[in-house]
Amino acid sequence: MSSGSYDVAIVGGGIIGLATALWLTRRYPRCRVAVVEKEPELATHQTGHNSGVIHSGIYYRPGSRKAQFCVRGVESMVRFCDDNGVDYQRCGKVIVATDESELGRMEDLYQRGVANGVPGLEKIGPERLREIEPNTHGVAALHAPGTGIVDFTTVAGIYAEQARSAGAEIMTGRRVVGISARQGAIRLETTGGGLESRYLINCAGLHADRVARMMGVDPGVRIIPFRGEYYTIREDRRDLVKALIYPVPNPRFPFLGVHFTRSIHGDVEAGPNAVLALAREGYTKTAVSLGDTLGTLAFRGFWAMALKTWKTGLGEMHRSFSKRVFLHDLQRLLPGIRAEDLAPGGAGVRAQAVHRDGRLLDDFSIHRSQGAIHVLNAPSPGATSSLAIGEHIVGLAAESFDLETSTT
Ligand SMILES: Cc1cc2nc3c(=O)[nH]c(=O)nc-3n(C[C@H](O)[C@H](O)[C@H](O)COP(=O)(O)OP(=O)(O)OC[C@H]3O[C@@H](n4cnc5c(N)ncnc54)[C@H](O)[C@@H]3O)c2cc1C
Repeated sequence: MSSGSYDVAIVGGGIIGLATALWLTRRYPRCRVAVVEKEPELATHQTGHNSGVIHSGIYYRPGSRKAQFCVRGVESMVRFCDDNGVDYQRCGKVIVATDESELGRMEDLYQRGVANGVPGLEKIGPERLREIEPNTHGVAALHAPGTGIVDFTTVAGIYAEQARSAGAEIMTGRRVVGISARQGAIRLETTGGGLESRYLINCAGLHADRVARMMGVDPGVRIIPFRGEYYTIREDRRDLVKALIYPVPNPRFPFLGVHFTRSIHGDVEAGPNAVLALAREGYTKTAVSLGDTLGTLAFRGFWAMALKTWKTGLGEMHRSFSKRVFLHDLQRLLPGIRAEDLAPGGAGVRAQAVHRDGRLLDDFSIHRSQGAIHVLNAPSPGATSSLAIGEHIVGLAAESFDLETSTT
């Protein structure tokens, strides 16, 4: 069964694929856009398994794509929520230095935040910290009042609705299993039949490197899945946390450290950690995919990464298996939290691109090939930045694809 022909096929119905579909239909109303998603529902992987934080742009190297897209992304996200009646809160966040040894790194973060233009970012002392988060302990902190919370699955659903009403076709339950180019058209083989498109945008998240390779493109990186596990705070102890409490992160690791997050639905989570997953969609410790694991082990960059980060990696695994260690780290931020306050929560898996030389790509990475654009690294703050990333991708498409000649 072949199901039509399109100008642009987007592989992946997560928040970035859907934001891209939305921008394409806004900028090119006559463009025939298809989104092809393998799951029966949209937004079920990274988009549906994250902390739900609208980041304000503090952490990222000034001038990087993360810095630019996040700072722009917050404002467009908030405007989008306002315009579409999506529930969100700008509850603010604190990044807490728990002892003097963290003050230098906290200052570096402050300088980054200022350079990135994060509105209202300020350094605060222990008294102001206690006013904002009465149960936390710290010698100093950063306060980012513009940081917020939202449900990104809801946001992605509205991107999809709007793209669909503007003419995009959104197909679920169809895994792309093969891609070939012939006579100026790209043919996608999917589990629900074939389709043809003039151009392709790869937003396949945890499988983005595989989709690139299906087209014969060497992405130069491999996606290594890092699971982030959460605990949920018992309902009668949620009051310990007013909004968002983060540690000063380890600057050598692109993850933020376990933190406390109040979600837009009112529950409070602690986490996520960052452990190597044995399956790209490995949401539990026992989820193993032989193919994914052998692929990781066969990748030179994995061993180079392991050599550089084995100590941190082992520490993360130890904390993953030991509630006591997890609790100990949480107590540095919130001394009053006890083991019985924590119940096992959910998990998400980050699509982290790793270079052949073992570097974990720190920035968003978007690669162009003949007739295609590939989003190869879009971890946090990818959801916050989704509208900015989608707009950027459509800008690249305007440069490299001939979309003005699209016909309806
Ligand atoms: C634990 C965790 C916490 C996070 N916290 C935050 C946060 O607080 N704030 C924030 O801004 N960001 C956060 N992020 C990052 C954010 O979730 C991601 O940046 C964002 O969701 C990426 O969206 P995506 O569309 O690229 O990927 P995904 O949502 O993973 O979507 C990719 C889609 O492609 C589909 N797909 C893959 N292969 C194929 C194929 N062959 N055929 C068809 N479809 C395919 C998948 O099924 C999937 O639906 C977090 C991520 C994790 C994992």
